[in-house]
Amino acid sequence: MAQEYDRVALIGLGLIASSMVWGIRRAGLAGEVTGHARSPETRAIAREIGLCDRVCDSAAEAVQGADLVVLCVPVGAMGAVMAEIGPALQPGATVSDVGSVKRAVIEAAAPHLPDNVHFVPAHPLAGTEQSGPRSGFAELFDNRWCILVPDGAAPEATARLHRFWQGLGSNTDEMDADHHDLVLAVTSHTPHLIAYTMVGVADDLRRVTDSEVIKYSAAGFRDFTRIAASDPTMWRDVFLTNKDATLEILGRFTEELFALQRAIRQGDGEMLHDYFTRTRAIRRGIIEAGQDTEAPDFGRAPLRKG
Ligand code: NAP
Repeated sequence: MAQEYDRVALIGLGLIASSMVWGIRRAGLAGEVTGHARSPETRAIAREIGLCDRVCDSAAEAVQGADLVVLCVPVGAMGAVMAEIGPALQPGATVSDVGSVKRAVIEAAAPHLPDNVHFVPAHPLAGTEQSGPRSGFAELFDNRWCILVPDGAAPEATARLHRFWQGLGSNTDEMDADHHDLVLAVTSHTPHLIAYTMVGVADDLRRVTDSEVIKYSAAGFRDFTRIAASDPTMWRDVFLTNKDATLEILGRFTEELFALQRAIRQGDGEMLHDYFTRTRAIRRGIIEAGQDTEAPDFGRAPLRKG
């Protein structure tokens, strides 16, 4: 794989950024990787595990001379980080991010961007419930989609970022920010909310003890608990910034749930059978598209659970 950038700067050194570092190294995509995280603890861990060629104490220092800068912080922090790095960006640099919501990031970042950089927001559709600099692994993005939202950026800068993400193992696509946010509300954000709710329900239901929940949790509930262990800050920001699309999908979900509730109450087996046949076909489509594999752990010790 060819080197795509001379210096890549990653701001925020959690799961996504650390996976990017290992992936960049695996494919030789950058001459040098610099990084910055806000807390001294995270920076110390990053230095200890050899994440990045240089871990800088300020975001502005990390982006100096970088021809690609990627913001890997929670969506709600993007605007403040962009304001901090804006004056230090190298003219002609490409600035991107990995936030799970795109319209809010564009609105928060745009006012702080100098005219002489290319802004190409992106979202890798890959993750685990782990967070922090120790949780990353090079294979995280393999065969996953990364959606680029060029939003008017120069085609050459966009094409280069496509090649970069492909070098990290992803398939890449482009979308308009609003469409991205709606698609993700269906495929990721609302399902996470449902998982959080289901785990909350089990916790509230005093007639079923915690030990029974743990002892008898079959795959379905176990998957919910895994998803519900995701980083609270990241997911709070996702729902606060993708409000309209999530509420729209949640409204539709509630209608479907009422329809199923009525079918169960009325003993309408035909309706239930037809419904589950339709959903089974959707699952088979996902398997055929190769998007059903779990992100493997690869034995890296989790630093902290979200
Ligand atoms: P993570 O492991 O929790 O790491 C987050 C990083 O952001 C940490 O370095 C943290 O610094 C820093 N940070 C947190 N709040 C901040 C603030 N207010 N100002 C500046 N820095 C702050 O998170 P992640 O999973 O890598 O997620 C990063 C981004 O990727 C998010 O925008 C998320 O939406 C997106 N994303 C996540 C996934 C996923 O499944 N995890 C998938 C795709 C995209 P400290 O360590 O110093 O606190």
